[in-house]
Amino acid sequence: KPVIVWFRRNLRLHDNAALGAAERDGAPVVPVFVRDPPDPSGQASDWWLHRSLASLDADLATRGSSLLILQGPTETVLPRLATEIGAGALHLERGHEPGVAAREQDISTRLSEHGIATRRFAGRLLADPDRFRTGAGGPYRVFTPFWKALRHGFESGTPRPAPERLTTPTNLPDGLALEELGLVTESKEQIAGWEGDWQPGEAGAREALADFVDGPMADYPEGRDLPGRVGTSRLSPHLHFGEVSIRTAWHVAAQAAVGGAERGGEAFLRELGWRDFGAHLLHHFPRIVDEPLQKKFDTFPWRDDAAALQRWQDGLTGYPLVDAGMRQLRRTGWMHNRVRMVAASFLVKHLLIDWRAGERWFRDCLVDFDPASNIVNWQWVAGSGADAAPYFRIFNPVLQGTRFDRDGAYVRRWLAEIADLPDRYLHHPWDAPATTLEAAGIVLDRDYPAPMVDHAFARKRALSAFQSLTESE
Ligand code: FAD
Repeated sequence: KPVIVWFRRNLRLHDNAALGAAERDGAPVVPVFVRDPPDPSGQASDWWLHRSLASLDADLATRGSSLLILQGPTETVLPRLATEIGAGALHLERGHEPGVAAREQDISTRLSEHGIATRRFAGRLLADPDRFRTGAGGPYRVFTPFWKALRHGFESGTPRPAPERLTTPTNLPDGLALEELGLVTESKEQIAGWEGDWQPGEAGAREALADFVDGPMADYPEGRDLPGRVGTSRLSPHLHFGEVSIRTAWHVAAQAAVGGAERGGEAFLRELGWRDFGAHLLHHFPRIVDEPLQKKFDTFPWRDDAAALQRWQDGLTGYPLVDAGMRQLRRTGWMHNRVRMVAASFLVKHLLIDWRAGERWFRDCLVDFDPASNIVNWQWVAGSGADAAPYFRIFNPVLQGTRFDRDGAYVRRWLAEIADLPDRYLHHPWDAPATTLEAAGIVLDRDYPAPMVDHAFARKRALSAFQSLTESE
């Protein structure tokens, strides 16, 4: 009897436990993707998904198979397909977001009514979110002890190769053409920006991993903080869609680390640990989807300021590092982690705009949008999450710029209008003497905005907002 392999965020053939088990059983395989709107992802990640599905379908074709694309409520679409084709089992890679396990259970119950088994496989995370517990038996709320438990408790093993050949029944019902899902809705110009920067799909993912391990990994502890160069793996969208398994990323980095790049390898594994930590938190505290983890932030006096939010989104705050980041995000669907922290902090602390508005914007713009990582990092920046930086630590966007983009390579790439300013004033053009501005051909507030809010004023305002909170506790 055929086995349905449900592709969700495991869009790969290598080290895919759900697919591998079906292949080993020798059963005919029916690879299926189901689009189940409404989906909370945004336009950039929908574009990625489209490209990734096309790539998966092409990879399946080289093995004698193809991807069946369906649309509708998964809990009706999958059982209908399973009964129609007389499937023996459904294989899936387990998801961990709120509501997902219940949904999987629902599908499994419906299938079992027809005598069809559901087999769930691990693969999305290094460790199941329930695997590690604090000494008191609860979930972790602090990263370091979570990381210690994961680092010592996790063994990657050797990732499995992709199947060489697959048998797929020919008498399947008609699916949709990929285009019919309508995942690509953005303008041609926007799509050209993404296309220029990324190669979605399994081949692109494996290439990105190999390039990183052979190159920037050795210098990762320092290089990862410098947005002006390629110092990180840029694996995040590939990992989100499971185009390379997290286990493979871990395994390849750990092997390479033994071969010489110990510091870089170890620091990189720790970042992979943050990904698991985000999933662990969202799994155990599902309310953090739209509520602060720390209750006292429930009454935070956020400002409602649509015009300011718009300026931040457009990269027109007048702070070059923030603006460069927001433009990189819009143009490429990705922003360097250091700059994500500074830009997010600017919205929440300098503008006092609710982190949920920023989270929504990132969701719409990021090719690597991931519910757990996005929410947990936004709450971390806002100070309302687990392990949060104390609220009173407020990034100074000028100092962050002069420290991490000393030669201005990053700001110059994204803000052509101030590229001719000397390094000395690049991160604070408003301090440049008139002659310097003139020599660079810049009129402030015409070519580039003056700062929309003064740093010292904003810092004081944010601190007193926070103070009002603790006093009212
Ligand atoms: P590398 O430095 O090469 O790290 C390797 C991998 O580790 C990443 O691909 C990612 O999977 C994981 N990782 C690294 N840092 C973090 C982190 N802080 N939290 C969770 N996982 C991490 N990451 C997302 O994948 N999706 C998001 O939606 C997302 N939203 C964010 C929002 C904000 C406000 C901030 C501050 C960070 C966010 N991050 C998010 C985390 C981080 O910025 C990205 O994972 C990272 O920049 C991706 O680039 P990279 O693959 O080159 O990272």
